[in-house]
Amino acid sequence: SPGPPGYENYLYIMIFVPMAAVLIICLLATFTVINRKKNSDRLGNGVLYASVNPEYFSAAEMYVPDEWEVLREKITMNRELGQGSFGMVYEGVAKGVVKDEPETCVAIKTVNESASMRERIEFLNEASVMKEFNCHHVVRLLGVVSQGQPTLVIMELMTKGDLKSHLRSLRAKDPSQSYSLNLPPLKKIIQMAGEIADGMSYLNANKFVHRDLAARNCMVADDYTVKIGDFGMTRDIYETDYYRKGGKGLLPVRWMSPESLKDGVFTTTSDVW
Ligand code: ADP
Repeated sequence: SPGPPGYENYLYIMIFVPMAAVLIICLLATFTVINRKKNSDRLGNGVLYASVNPEYFSAAEMYVPDEWEVLREKITMNRELGQGSFGMVYEGVAKGVVKDEPETCVAIKTVNESASMRERIEFLNEASVMKEFNCHHVVRLLGVVSQGQPTLVIMELMTKGDLKSHLRSLRAKDPSQSYSLNLPPLKKIIQMAGEIADGMSYLNANKFVHRDLAARNCMVADDYTVKIGDFGMTRDIYETDYYRKGGKGLLPVRWMSPESLKDGVFTTTSDVW
């Protein structure tokens, strides 16, 4: 039956407009879900995309000299130990870096001459992580030369090098010889494991997540004490329980926990893994 004038317009507004709105919302929702799925598939493929940690980047823009600063003339470099990621690492002597010790044999990390300002600051900030640590089973930072060139980081000398190379060097040269002949006694092996566990437990107690514990990152001292020694990926987690990876840096996938691989999340428990 014919309605009052304007009835058809009214019908339009009351029925078709809401229907169109619902349709648009449904389409948007479907689109969002598909997009999310795509992103999570990407994560599942092992390619990690995470947001940049703003704290890390603001800290990377400057280095302020502090009580760790050592005068350059107190440092003597003697011989090369090996190439590090920023530059050559030397063995040398430092005056007055250890209390009650006039001279100390040290490891000296340097930055390549070609390095940018940003790289130098990153190098110093990476070393600065070690300022917080005071544990017999964590390699000790002894000082920093941030004024002038080249930038130097002075560390406790670990004469037997990294644990991976050290263990490899014990392998029999002659394949017919039994490998076990060269192995340290079981008691020593268990002690080494205990020292690593003690160093890691210290880091955990201080709310630090290492993220890259491996034999290559443990160092062996002259008396065969093993210490945690590379903090390239260590980050202070402060109050939060985990650190979400920032940037697109390389990740040690062969040693990562399933949850770190899946979500890019590192915790003290993934350090245990
Ligand atoms: P980076 O962490 O800057 O990449 P590395 O830890 O790989 O540097 O060190 C480069 C080389 O220097 C390796 O051969 C390593 O054994 C040696 N090295 C590093 N730190 C020390 C140290 N504290 N004592 C003795 N040798 C060290």
